[in-house]
Amino acid sequence: MTTKRKSTKPHRRTANAPENSFVAGGFAPAPEDASILRLDTKPRRLLIGGKWVAGASTRETINPATGEPIATFAIAGPKQVDAAVAAARRAYEGEWSALPAAERGKLLFRLARLLQERSREFAVLESLDGGKPIRESRDIDIPLAAAHIFHHAGWADKLDYAAPGRRPRPLGVAAQIIPWNFPLLMAAWKLAPALATGNTVVLKPAETTPLTALLLGQLIEEAGFPPGVVNILTGAGQTGATLAAHPGVDKIAFTGSTAVGKAIQRALAGSQKRYTLELGGKAAHILFEDCAIDQAVEGIINGIFFNQGHVCCAGSRLFVQEGIADTVIRKLKRRIETLVVGDPLDKNTDIGAINSPEQLERIQELVAAGKAEGAECWQGPQTLPRRGCWFAPTLFTGCSQSHRIVREEIFGPVLAIQTFRTPAEAIEKANNTPFGLSGGVWTDKGAKIFKVTGALRAGVIWANTFNKFDPSSPFGGYKESGIGREGGLHGLHAYLDLHHQSPTMS
Ligand code: ADP
Repeated sequence: MTTKRKSTKPHRRTANAPENSFVAGGFAPAPEDASILRLDTKPRRLLIGGKWVAGASTRETINPATGEPIATFAIAGPKQVDAAVAAARRAYEGEWSALPAAERGKLLFRLARLLQERSREFAVLESLDGGKPIRESRDIDIPLAAAHIFHHAGWADKLDYAAPGRRPRPLGVAAQIIPWNFPLLMAAWKLAPALATGNTVVLKPAETTPLTALLLGQLIEEAGFPPGVVNILTGAGQTGATLAAHPGVDKIAFTGSTAVGKAIQRALAGSQKRYTLELGGKAAHILFEDCAIDQAVEGIINGIFFNQGHVCCAGSRLFVQEGIADTVIRKLKRRIETLVVGDPLDKNTDIGAINSPEQLERIQELVAAGKAEGAECWQGPQTLPRRGCWFAPTLFTGCSQSHRIVREEIFGPVLAIQTFRTPAEAIEKANNTPFGLSGGVWTDKGAKIFKVTGALRAGVIWANTFNKFDPSSPFGGYKESGIGREGGLHGLHAYLDLHHQSPTMS
């Protein structure tokens, strides 16, 4: 599972460095202290009806930077799924619905504050379990998760204003299935709107990254949420499938691969269940000749190498206008050479570990396909650690629209570059994809921003920036990127029944 590459810059790693001691791009190592975690060896349990209970079996979660196990966690079987859905229903029909909305808000505010207080612990655990750089989990994942909970806490007692003229009601029990790329942030994106709107939840984290959701479960208890309002079932795809198909669930919120999203949609056909699906992406990042090139290069780097490219809205297809293509590619390569790839817990690290051996294999397979189909591959000179899952930052030039690396989501640090001459050509190529989640446009001209962003078929489009997230801004896709939005008013509506008119407004 190790990708070994010949270094063109031998000084980046001392010749006799012990295995897996990383030398961060010439900087002295600056590791975050992992002892804050107080990790114990007891198997992690499932949170059902306010009690921590055993599952049907257990599984280990692995640190992808070293390949070593971190903890054992429970796999929920059909019995536990039943119990969790029943507990969520009891809580919904009992204590939770009886609680004044302002009290729901207070619980969410308390949860957000507890998360902020323990943010360092969460950041270390997120990086250890998932492989992402501590700089990102510390500065992005955890603060954004808290921001999302704060934002929705404020909505809890103001829902009439979220849907004027209606009398919004919760849907009931929400099943929420989340992926491994932003484990805590996705848990927050799912839990906060569901709880603010008065639903109860059964949450299923991904099998390679269950730990921060379980720690969040402890904070949910500490905050004082009534038992059964949030139930957490760890497990793999089978647990997710059982939960999504459970007859006791009123709403399914899923974030993950397009293939699983389609399977869930098929399973739900003909049922009354509401659902939102946030699936894959293949974002076009478009650079016009009149853009600020250096800023755009930073945007491209952030767009594709943030979180090792494990980002559904990653800017994975770059379209550069012909006149600046050579300059942009030269600057990109120079910038990539400065990226620090290594220990996720080192504060210097820009690119951490690939989340799992399975994901590494998928990236390797698609990169091999890119080469075989005739695109030209260039990789950063970083020497990769010997143990664990790693992939060097990679660019492909000479790509055509038919190449797999242009059509398929790679979900890794791999950028496919193409050129264009006119805005119309850029738009046509950008839209020539089954996905439609995000996009980026770089130009000095405001009118061009409006023209191009209006023509791109994607749910979120950034102009002269990339990867900006805010709880008040809806996020979601078109076509095979999914259905529904998370965040903002759209995200609230996805957890509300809006069919009842307010008597004062009728
Ligand atoms: P990826 O391919 O990126 O790992 P998946 O879609 O497989 O994404 O996983 C996202 C989430 O969906 C995880 O929590 C996973 O356990 C869950 N999952 C996988 N298969 C299914 C399924 N058939 N039904 C419901 N959930 C599933």
